[in-house]
Amino acid sequence: KRVEIGRAQHQIDASRLPNSALTVVRTLQQAGFEAYIVGGAVRDLLLGLKPKDFDVATNATPEQVKPLFRRAFLIGRRFRIVHVMFGREIIEVSTFRATLEAQTSPTVDGDERNTHELAGKHHAVDASGRVLRDNVWGPQDQDAARRDFTVNALYYDPTRDIVVDYHHGLRDLKARTLRMIGDPATRYREDPVRLLRVARFAAKLAFAIDPSTRAPIAEHAELLRNVPSARLFDETIKLLQTGHALASLDQLRRLGLHAGLLPLIDLALSQPQGEAFVMAALRDTDARIAEGKTASPSFLFACLLWPQVNSEWVALQAEGLPAIAALDQAADAVLSAQAERLAIQRRISVDMREIWSLQPRLARRTPRYVHSALEHPRFRAAFDFLLLRAQTGDADPELASWWESFQEADDAARAELIERAG
Ligand code: ATP
Ligand code: MG
Repeated sequence: KRVEIGRAQHQIDASRLPNSALTVVRTLQQAGFEAYIVGGAVRDLLLGLKPKDFDVATNATPEQVKPLFRRAFLIGRRFRIVHVMFGREIIEVSTFRATLEAQTSPTVDGDERNTHELAGKHHAVDASGRVLRDNVWGPQDQDAARRDFTVNALYYDPTRDIVVDYHHGLRDLKARTLRMIGDPATRYREDPVRLLRVARFAAKLAFAIDPSTRAPIAEHAELLRNVPSARLFDETIKLLQTGHALASLDQLRRLGLHAGLLPLIDLALSQPQGEAFVMAALRDTDARIAEGKTASPSFLFACLLWPQVNSEWVALQAEGLPAIAALDQAADAVLSAQAERLAIQRRISVDMREIWSLQPRLARRTPRYVHSALEHPRFRAAFDFLLLRAQTGDADPELASWWESFQEADDAARAELIERAG
């Protein structure tokens, strides 16, 4: 049932919306289409949070949206949308999608522009029920029904200043509850990434998880295996790099999802020292983001996998391998074991390896090693990494503070520091 909520109850201040989002909505409406701000932005505005980005939903098809804007691009295959660019800002415009039931039902009377998309639609789901393609257009109520949580299915029309709600999203938002729309188990089978989204939003919003949304999670956790590893990687970054990494990991553990995602994390967390290191790294990441800094995925993943690399490194050295060679070998072993589950992009694994391999090099305080470390493009990250190690007891705090002084010192003082270390 469609409910329209007026200004008295929603208190969104349309004048605080960015021009980009307002322009997209108004342009579509002036061309005769329906258009709304939708999803996370509406939810965050209602909660008094600053939206990360703005998405627009419309009944115009991507082909109808594109010519209305000077810089607009058709994106995606599995899920086709339009990106409208305003300088560096991107507004994502998606066409209202039909529900899966409507897509597979032979009685649906798709209008002309849908008949092409409908052909062959019955096979857009794999054997486990996972949706492979999702480009059948439908009315707004169906678009709402196929979103994940009730609080993510709210639409805001800045022109009429109303919020449109089909699933008691506003009620759940006020009760700070995350509730899956429809039958939760079915929705997890359609898209197992939703399992991770529960953890992410519960952590980010500090919301309770409705019991019927929570109950099927553990038994469906293994469906994460069907998700392409590149998509898992994207979702993991969102979990860990949006300022709520500690809370997210905590949710993942409580929901029983962390093992399938980062198998090596499981091992790390089972050893007290590994756990201390990973927690310190996540706390550090959250703090950086709270200060408005960025946290690089390579640094974060280098931290998450470090406890494992470190214990292999120690073992290989005990077998008599020199420190630097032992570390390279430990890095190989850990990265290839991890790659089976989570595709870490090549660019990122190259950086991770450099951060790790600088660790034993930072411990060699000869002029040659010191200068080559200092000039290395990953020096800063490697030094931050050393600080974390020193904090949690797997590197010498004296070494970390030596490098701290060295960076601040002038040439004469640097020579003296090297002298003293040698
Ligand atoms: P954030 O602020 O973290 O970006 P968000 O709610 O905007 O949160 P997005 O991943 O950007 O999250 O997705 C935008 C919207 O698209 C969601 O609010 C939701 O309505 C819908 N959506 C995204 N992913 C899914 C999914 N896997 N299943 C169903 N609906 C989804
Ligand atoms: Mg978003």
